[in-house]
Amino acid sequence: MPEGDTIFRAARTLNEALAGRTVTRFESVFAQLTRFDGASPLLGRTIERVDARGKHLLIWFSGDLVLRTHMRMHGSWHIYRPGERWQRPRHEMRIVIETPPYVAVAFAVPVAEFVEAAAVDREGPVAELGPDPLSDTFDAAAALARLQARGDVEIADALLDQRAIAGIGNVFKSEVLFAARVSPFTLVRALGADTLARIVAIAERQMRANVGDAGAAVLGGRRTTNRLDPSARLWVYGRRGLPCRRCGTPIQRAKQGPDMRSTYWCERCQPRPA
Ligand SMILES: [Zn+2]
Repeated sequence: MPEGDTIFRAARTLNEALAGRTVTRFESVFAQLTRFDGASPLLGRTIERVDARGKHLLIWFSGDLVLRTHMRMHGSWHIYRPGERWQRPRHEMRIVIETPPYVAVAFAVPVAEFVEAAAVDREGPVAELGPDPLSDTFDAAAALARLQARGDVEIADALLDQRAIAGIGNVFKSEVLFAARVSPFTLVRALGADTLARIVAIAERQMRANVGDAGAAVLGGRRTTNRLDPSARLWVYGRRGLPCRRCGTPIQRAKQGPDMRSTYWCERCQPRPA
């Protein structure tokens, strides 16, 4: 599933291509979008900007209108020149927004809705998001407080709660906790404020490292180890049974939490709470 860094980079690419341009064509397989387009057409509106909030991608149009999309597991936005061959099959197309020089296509995006611009921060899933480490106004203390409010939750699950801290998915969850040497199964209330603050700081550092330069994009994947070798990009995620890069102990994997999400960890570097 795309995490905050992926959505951030997608929004940046879309923004560079589309900001300031006028919509010349709008198409969607979603009835609620085409109904809206019929009543208040997209055609002729200017795309003001594209940005990301956590895992939500927002396209801001003139006339105080926002298109919110969420990628879930397999969704993605692509940018093409008109007439260029698409890299995903046509039946996966969900939304097309054309401006004279570019065509933006959303594939397999399961969540899409038009929202009044003023409502984005007032109600709904974006308004409920916790602080976003990739935001210029990231408030680490607020993220810490929101984690602390989830004392009875295991830290790995608390990190996935988008209302506590936005943008972290399954990969960063495991990588951040390994770097912090904290067991994913520790209850939040068993962690001191210093440790939680360290976890938040590591999350911010790892996520920013994956949007800050061309490295991640060139390698075609996320990395947390600072190594350029693609096979050494991550500490624990996806490495079940392979030796820990610190101590050599085989990495473990378990399904965790109400959503049974995969967690990877090193039992020696991240011992379970007593
Ligand atoms: Zn280890």
